[in-house]
Amino acid sequence: MTSMVAGINQIIKKNGLPKQVLPEIFSRKDIFPDLHLLDGPLKVYRSQSSFDWRKLRLIVEDEESWKLRYKVWNFMENNPLFFRSHETLPLDVQRHQATKRVYTLYNEKFYGLEEYMERPDLSGKYSSAMISYDPNVSVKLSLAFGMFPNTIRTLGSDRTLDIVNENLNAENAGSFALTEIAHGSNARGMRTTATFEKETKTFVLNTPDFEAAKCWVGNLGKTCTHAIVYAQLYTPDGKCHGLNAFVVPIRDKKTLLAFPGVVVGDLGEKIALNGVDNGFVLFNNYKIPKDYMLSKTGDVDDAGNFISQFKDPKKRMGKSLGALSGGRVGICEIASTYGVKAITIATRYAAARQQFGPEDSNVEYPVIEYQAQQYRMLPHLAAVYAVQFFSTFIGKIYGDMTMKLLMGEDMATAGMEIHALSSVGKPICAWTVRDVIQECREACGGHGYLKCARLGDLRNENDANCTYEGENNILIQQGSNFLINTRAKGWSAFGEVSPLGSVDFLKNGEEIKKLKWSWTQTNVAMKPENLLTIFNWICVHLLERTYDKVKQLQASGQSQFDIRNNSQVFYAINLAKAYGHRSLFEVFYQKVQSLTPSPERDVLSKLLSLYGANVIVNNYIGTLYEGSFVEMGLNVCEILQSGILGILPILKLEAVTLVDAIAPPDFIINSPLGMSDGRIYDHLKSVIYQTPGTFERPEWWKDISYRDYIVKSNL
Ligand SMILES: Cc1cc2nc3c(=O)[nH]c(=O)nc-3n(C[C@H](O)[C@H](O)[C@H](O)COP(=O)(O)OP(=O)(O)OC[C@H]3O[C@@H](n4cnc5c(N)ncnc54)[C@H](O)[C@@H]3O)c2cc1C
Repeated sequence: MTSMVAGINQIIKKNGLPKQVLPEIFSRKDIFPDLHLLDGPLKVYRSQSSFDWRKLRLIVEDEESWKLRYKVWNFMENNPLFFRSHETLPLDVQRHQATKRVYTLYNEKFYGLEEYMERPDLSGKYSSAMISYDPNVSVKLSLAFGMFPNTIRTLGSDRTLDIVNENLNAENAGSFALTEIAHGSNARGMRTTATFEKETKTFVLNTPDFEAAKCWVGNLGKTCTHAIVYAQLYTPDGKCHGLNAFVVPIRDKKTLLAFPGVVVGDLGEKIALNGVDNGFVLFNNYKIPKDYMLSKTGDVDDAGNFISQFKDPKKRMGKSLGALSGGRVGICEIASTYGVKAITIATRYAAARQQFGPEDSNVEYPVIEYQAQQYRMLPHLAAVYAVQFFSTFIGKIYGDMTMKLLMGEDMATAGMEIHALSSVGKPICAWTVRDVIQECREACGGHGYLKCARLGDLRNENDANCTYEGENNILIQQGSNFLINTRAKGWSAFGEVSPLGSVDFLKNGEEIKKLKWSWTQTNVAMKPENLLTIFNWICVHLLERTYDKVKQLQASGQSQFDIRNNSQVFYAINLAKAYGHRSLFEVFYQKVQSLTPSPERDVLSKLLSLYGANVIVNNYIGTLYEGSFVEMGLNVCEILQSGILGILPILKLEAVTLVDAIAPPDFIINSPLGMSDGRIYDHLKSVIYQTPGTFERPEWWKDISYRDYIVKSNL
């Protein structure tokens, strides 16, 4: 051994240190710009960082993901249609602009069917690239040319393939109409009807009243030609066969006028996402061909008989609405995209903005130097990394699963697990990012409140993530249902329902239940593997507690409906959230575990500890005592708090570089507070000075000087 080391030393002496072989992609200066050369207030932090942000960038996402992102971003930056403006445009102009951008991007075919077949997981990265520029474009495009044809492919038959082929060439544009004015989450209560007419071999669509109008449907307001419509199916014998999906022509392709029998309109201005024309529609004896029923889960023959391989209508509807799983997976990526932008803006601002300093000097400190500011930023930075790793993970397993399904593999068990995992993952990602953005907004002080800072828009855009594709509070119940139902079969059952590994650990529930907190030293308690043990125990404890509650309600004679509703607060909801938090932590943990020792691994490991400890301190300290995981008298809160306080000053030095690793280019950040050079005042001045009207006297100046609009009182 000694002689080998001596040999290596001799070679080094002769030839100098061996050159590190850097990935070729580092020469792409668009993806890996020379940030350390930028003069400005961030330089000092970049020079103190312990790791290579470029290497971390490739740990966060692989080369292909970054190449695809930059393909889209470079195209946008060089196309006048995508020029940036900070003005708020009239509603119609926003929609017009978003629509033109959709067709322009779709025309480029950056990521089509072929690419999807090769790397299905990149579909999330493609959407993310568009969302980070402007979510309106992505939402419209993915509804018109993603969700619409995909639903037809998944639920339809050969009879509807023409519509898919036309869609491929942008000859039609789709939308997805499930929600009604009076019913959203409760899909079974929907009242739009589709009645089969034997003589004409058509379905006749009807909307009984305004409360049954389909609403909130993206692209329906002004731009789509077709919609997937969910309606209660009636056969000629008067029997109702529950909710089924149909492809429904809405507007003439050439004139874009609605067909007779279709009353379609625009829902109006929203809190955000105003480039998307969300609309409503009512049908009045509107006939569509029999072939337009999406018949994979149920069909009607020419004689008017309903045929389905599913005996249980609930199961049929479950399969039919199962097409929505991909949407939830996609929302994790959307939330991640917003979180990355917000934390990039706020971190760079905190490192550039100076306020106060020691009393006896004129020096002012960047606000990131203050402990209070560090605690407001850094746990959120850690959370953004957690959301980012989780969204990449769930996007990958969902993509793999879709491919296997296409190959004819039975994915029923994985399908149920991903349904549960996405049902907790989507709410946790959306809520986490909601908190990230709000804190970032406040952390940027007054300038953070400017429209051009982008944080207000990000907050409002992410807001929709909490509601669409399953309202968070209702959706998350799917996760706890899955856990409770499996628990009822015994702990060992978890070994059989978890091919994706998200609940596999629960098969050891009995042993985990007996664990106790055994770490008195902060640095030991903060180790990721110990934090994972704590999360495991929390999940087991909350599951046992909720399961006991359910049994107690059963024993008191309550109905299934009441049991479910009366076991939510403090029980099932907490359980579902813990499953979500643990899943995010575990995915992050596995990512760190997969890395070889390096400065990048070290910094990620600290970030992981910060994320885990902070989630536990803010959500589960009471649970740890209540379930006797911790003995009374041991102050674990203080142990974890001191761990957090110890990490803050270390990560303060890494924060700017940590955001460099995940940040999109300045063209995409588009906020004077968050540009990569940190020259916040130069950028702020440009934006304010260049905004039309900044220096103009208002046209209504006379109403200040002369006030002749005030009617003199005769009294
Ligand atoms: C921006 C945006 C875009 C959208 N795009 C589309 C689209 O393209 N197509 C489409 O079909 N829909 C779309 N939607 C509609 C969306 O999917 C629904 O709003 C969502 O499913 C929630 O339904 P709801 O609004 O009827 O809420 P409700 O179901 O009425 O819920 C109202 C409140 O009651 C609570 N609640 C309801 N039931 C329970 C219960 N059992 N237990 C506890 N709490 C309960 C909920 O948590 C919620 O807080 C969109 C919505 C938005 C905001």
